[in-house]
Amino acid sequence: MTMDALRRSGAWGGVVEAFRERLALPAGAPTITLLEGNTPLIPAPTIGDRVGADVHLKFEGMNPTGSFKDRGMCVAVSGAVASGSKVIVCASTGNTSASAAAYAARAGLRCGVVIPEGQIALGKLAQALIHGASVIPVEGNFDDALGIVRELAETGEATLVNSVNPLRIEGQKTVAFEVVEQLGGVPPDIHCLPVGNAGNITAAWLGYTEALEVYGVDRRPAMWGAQAAGAAPIVRGERVERPQTIATAIRIGNPASWDGAVAARDSSGGTIEAVTDAEILDAYRLLASVEGVFCEPASAAGVALLLNKAAAGEVPPGATVVVTLTGHGLKDPDRVVQEIELPASVRAELDAVAPRLGL
Ligand SMILES: *Cc1c(COP(=O)(O)O)cnc(C)c1O
Repeated sequence: MTMDALRRSGAWGGVVEAFRERLALPAGAPTITLLEGNTPLIPAPTIGDRVGADVHLKFEGMNPTGSFKDRGMCVAVSGAVASGSKVIVCASTGNTSASAAAYAARAGLRCGVVIPEGQIALGKLAQALIHGASVIPVEGNFDDALGIVRELAETGEATLVNSVNPLRIEGQKTVAFEVVEQLGGVPPDIHCLPVGNAGNITAAWLGYTEALEVYGVDRRPAMWGAQAAGAAPIVRGERVERPQTIATAIRIGNPASWDGAVAARDSSGGTIEAVTDAEILDAYRLLASVEGVFCEPASAAGVALLLNKAAAGEVPPGATVVVTLTGHGLKDPDRVVQEIELPASVRAELDAVAPRLGL
């Protein structure tokens, strides 16, 4: 059955069930699922008018733990269980740990997460804690944390569930299958998304490549990746020792899937460009205020890039553009309060409230 038919029938069983034969899972692997995937592709007519294109938002914030990481994590954890592993570990800028902790709880595994201290949005930290993960903040950045868990996993006692685990990429490629189905069997012309550790752009490109065969489509989109200006190693062509950006989910100076991102960019005739924090925050507020879609700051980077390209006259008129919104805005409410001041209280009387509303 197609995804659309499954959705209509109410029988959606999650990424592993829907796409198992495409996922390179060992035979007999269990289906560990929180019914992830099948996320909405939301038309964005106001932003579309502004850039002169047909823009759709693939809102991955609607996954069970609020980010696209679930799409890969369900497959990685299903694989970990199949291999007899009892412990999973990851480094995280937040969402990987939230997702790993939830799926570990679901599967009855222990979960260890190593995070850069003081740099994780509160919502994500809360998720890892409530799902019972062992959370270990380190005095370093994401790249340091990833180095540690890679070594930990080499002992063979724990399975690494960062996107260097190929099953993460396998799961995340399914976003492309869904987009093709949701657009009625055709790929978009352009697919925009934020780039941090670069697993997701690698995975989406793999998915579009497989879609040539799976859906019999005859072309693939140009992949447009956005890095934060203070954490843009791929754009600059060199590692960034101390990456800086308010978009903490993409605060990464040495992406593990660097080669995959470059291959996706070059084979697709795409681009990977930097967007400033100010541009990211403008796009973040625009998405919420004109389209009604609340994503986290890093997620808005793809829209920021699309707006920049439109301003430069580089968006082909009428192109179909899909932008992945990688995570939900509720992960990081502190950011809103820093951006927009909460008004002072007034007396609880009509004559005090009405003027505030200009009524
Ligand atoms: C993980 C993450 C990214 C970056 O994805 P990569 O695969 O590391 O490039 C972007 N946005 C959000 C919200 C994320 O959680």
